[in-house]
Amino acid sequence: MLDLAIRGGDVVVPHGTGRWSVGVKDGKIAFVGLEDQAIQAAKVIDATGKLVVPGGIEPHTHLGDRITMQPGEAGLFALGPEEDTRGMAFGGTTTHVDFAWVHLRNDVASAIERRMNRWKNKSYVDYTFHVALTGQLPLKTFDQLPEAIQQGFPSFKVFTADFLPPHPRRFPLRMDLGRIQLAMEKVAAHDGIMVVHAEDHDIVQFNYERFKAEGRTAGWNMHLVHSRLSENLSFRHAIGLAAATGAGTYFVHTSARDGVEAVMEARANGLPIYAETLHHYACFSAEDYKLPRGFCYHTYPSLKYPDDRKALWDGLVNDGVSTTATDEYPTSLELKLRGKQIDDVTGGNLGAEARMGIIYTEGVVKRGMTLQRFAEVTATNAAKILGLYPRKGVIAPGSDADLVLIDPSINKTLGREDFHVSDYSPWEGWEVTGWPVTTILRGKVIVDKGKLFGDLNDGQLVARRIDPRVLRRPAA
Ligand SMILES: [Zn+2]
Repeated sequence: MLDLAIRGGDVVVPHGTGRWSVGVKDGKIAFVGLEDQAIQAAKVIDATGKLVVPGGIEPHTHLGDRITMQPGEAGLFALGPEEDTRGMAFGGTTTHVDFAWVHLRNDVASAIERRMNRWKNKSYVDYTFHVALTGQLPLKTFDQLPEAIQQGFPSFKVFTADFLPPHPRRFPLRMDLGRIQLAMEKVAAHDGIMVVHAEDHDIVQFNYERFKAEGRTAGWNMHLVHSRLSENLSFRHAIGLAAATGAGTYFVHTSARDGVEAVMEARANGLPIYAETLHHYACFSAEDYKLPRGFCYHTYPSLKYPDDRKALWDGLVNDGVSTTATDEYPTSLELKLRGKQIDDVTGGNLGAEARMGIIYTEGVVKRGMTLQRFAEVTATNAAKILGLYPRKGVIAPGSDADLVLIDPSINKTLGREDFHVSDYSPWEGWEVTGWPVTTILRGKVIVDKGKLFGDLNDGQLVARRIDPRVLRRPAA
């Protein structure tokens, strides 16, 4: 006897979409196939008229992180997993990947342990962490990477730039290219992957200085400070290092055509290079900074131009951009809009809850993205690249029963009542066709028809291991 059967829906699996049943037993998918009334289930969900897709994977969040953009503000933190993952549950995201921060005064193991303790019994959905390597770490720190990979944390974030303005002084994030090369050597040898925030340090920091000297300090100049040229140069530097060391590399928050083109060239040469973008970057542009709530769309590097949006969508619909993320860093609206200048706007985003629904409307409904591709860019590819596959990211026997029902007949203008995190959403006022209505985490219905049934004990840490094929050539 099954624990759960989902009947009558259009089920999206890697080789197609069909009107199949999904059977769930002990939190795992037991079968996907034609309806068999002889198979009994303790609970049946009628999914007639709905799409059944893999639970979303949000590969890039910063929950509960210190807020460092506001000068003079100590002790401010982004909202934590206990609040933000409620929105993920409503929005159809069943796993998220946050960060464990390694700096001069800790080590990899203690950084991971600190975040594991912070998340324990504090997340509605499953989770794991990238290891973020910041600043000029001592060389011996890099010897800890193989052990972290062994423990199930095989992705390592580095920053090629300090992307915040030079004043006030902050924790250094930037890592020099020599150390990035060393990290890549370690990662390549032990089947890990690099996660790169790629901006050109010299260009960005010089632009802060130059724009200040020229009096162009209004925040809507952010796309000129964090320029396309900066993305172009830094993506190509990092790809050069990846090619030299053999390291698989995942570029977070690709924002410009330049980044997409650099990644596509590398992939055409057979390199295991992957690009993530944000639905914000795909849907808004730098002109939107001038709107009354314009800075609620800002996250570093910056919004760019309509031509860049087009490149991001082409990459998502066809090939070249593998995943969609949020760079979630949720705050109140007041805090998000407090800064108005290039040196004090609050970065970070609030959009994980909207991600699945927005990509469905903007990708599938408006741009002809196939349902298979929708599943790839919202779940499957992140699972493959970051080592959650095939446990997560696919509707297949043996995988976790992380499932989302999308009602494609919903037509609405998103309002405050559609969101469950903080006191605003950048997506209020956006028109959607189709929206997630039911979210199932390892066989448990955590959200159904606007009601939350999950709790903070539901989310579990997921160990990861990357299939070496993902690290040898482009495979997602
Ligand atoms: Zn980030």
